Amino acid sequence: MRTKITLACTECKQRNYETTKDKKTQPDRMEVKKYCRFCKTHTLHKETK
Ligand SMILES: [Zn+2]
Repeated sequence: MRTKITLACTECKQRNYETTKDKKTQPDRMEVKKYCRFCKTHTLHKETK
């Protein structure tokens, strides 16, 4: 069972990405380095509700 999640930039708080994850294998909040088009660089993105 996969849950839809949103990834938000930790620098500017923009929600840049939507993805899915398996809550069984990833019970904690995901943190991924991704490109933010608002910051124009790679930043840490965290899962939001
Ligand atoms: Zn950003």
